[in-house]
Amino acid sequence: MAIELESMISCPSCSFSWSLQMPIDACLAFVPCPRCAEILRPRTGDCCVPCSYGDLACPPVQKDGNCC
Ligand SMILES: [Zn+2]
Repeated sequence: MAIELESMISCPSCSFSWSLQMPIDACLAFVPCPRCAEILRPRTGDCCVPCSYGDLACPPVQKDGNCC
């Protein structure tokens, strides 16, 4: 299965969305919104920002179903 390294993130604060490049083997615990500068953090139970706010989960989750 191909692993996608780009996830479309949607900001919960201003609803801006942008394409985020994800590291192959690491979690993104916080990502600043490029428009409103809100710091996005994972929701409870999610490992990282793409899993909470992206259209794709992070690469470790895509690969194994679980994370770091
Ligand atoms: Zn925003």
